[in-house]
Amino acid sequence: MAEHPNSTAAVTETTCGICLEESKDPLNLPCGHSFCDGCLDQWRSRYGVLEEMRRKCPICRATIPPSKEMVSSLISYRAAKQMMENNNETSSEVYRSVCRALARAEESAGEDWDGVTVLEDDRKPAIVMPDYIYNAAPRGDIKSVLKWINANRTEDRANAVTSLESMSLPILFLATMDNHLMLMTLLLQLGADADSRTSNGITAIEMLFNDVKFREEDVSLRAKLLLSWGAIFFHDGAKRKHHLSRASHLSRAREWGYHKLAHLLESELGGRRCEIVNLPSRPEINGKTCVTDEYLPDSNEYKVTLETKSKDVLVLSPDNLTRRDRTPQDCGYYIEFKNGRTIRHDFDSNEDCQAFVAALNNNGESQPAVTEESEAAAELAAAELLAELGFDDSPTEPSSGYKAKKSKKKKGGKKKRK
Ligand SMILES: [Zn+2]
Ligand SMILES: [Zn+2]
Repeated sequence: MAEHPNSTAAVTETTCGICLEESKDPLNLPCGHSFCDGCLDQWRSRYGVLEEMRRKCPICRATIPPSKEMVSSLISYRAAKQMMENNNETSSEVYRSVCRALARAEESAGEDWDGVTVLEDDRKPAIVMPDYIYNAAPRGDIKSVLKWINANRTEDRANAVTSLESMSLPILFLATMDNHLMLMTLLLQLGADADSRTSNGITAIEMLFNDVKFREEDVSLRAKLLLSWGAIFFHDGAKRKHHLSRASHLSRAREWGYHKLAHLLESELGGRRCEIVNLPSRPEINGKTCVTDEYLPDSNEYKVTLETKSKDVLVLSPDNLTRRDRTPQDCGYYIEFKNGRTIRHDFDSNEDCQAFVAALNNNGESQPAVTEESEAAAELAAAELLAELGFDDSPTEPSSGYKAKKSKKKKGGKKKRK
């Protein structure tokens, strides 16, 4: 097949050949036909994994090359298998499950796959993080991670991933896996996507209910943090058919003893950041934001914590709440990393918070949170001094939740220039 009709610049039509509407997340096949990611996935799911029709264009029957996701699963399973063979670990159960996963991945890519052609989509490929960041993020080494991200803000480093061989794990995923709440927040503030996926399509929040490792840990704070930033809690339906459904995630949460969390996740606004609306009894808090901490199924109400300095706890009906996910510009509170410490800033209104974030961004000449970089330099000097004096200044995360240290906001503190 020598012709690539979609390579002629004139063809900009992105009508999906299945739903006949403007393609959502369009995938452009080499045959020139274009489909929504979701529509093509549904088409594929009509056929079994082994069925040849899965890999045919629904319109012209030309072969569909494997998606980036499929190829990266294939590469990471191959790498894992090779590594285990090198280490003579071929008798373990893990090895057998890697082999099965690899066989499935090869099957779905197709025997006739040329090993090169990959289905094109419009998504920009993620930045691959260097190895030292892959080491630093799981340790919760905020300083190294922020320094690397801030060293080049033109690249989307807050959404960087590990290599293909390592399952393309997003940086937020690494921080979530090892329970570094501060690093998670800092990454989200820098624009990390709460729903970023690994090469096999799993998001950070899904992972918390997928891996038996988390049976022993309390995942509530991590799950709630991701939800408050708008993470989609489990994808139902055809889109992610090879993963556990929402229902099975919830039953797993219960099985692991997270009953309150399961109630919360089951409810519509559970764990979300919300704006308070239409509350005649306390008009002064209308427009303020809160986080839903607990769902009370008997009364269909939520226990919420106000996002103000006072952090009042109230019980509100869903009618008085409307979802307002955190964004880097509207984050509700702000975690600053300064001199090797994290400082949480709370505000009495979202306007104050937004103004604070905007001011930080302006200080950095429109580069968000560039302050950390210059701080890092100042801090390095401080650390060297401490080392000389015999103190170790390793930046560690406060172990129990957020420490709201009210810092004196040094206004003229931004003297450091590069
Ligand atoms: Zn479509
Ligand atoms: Zn076609």
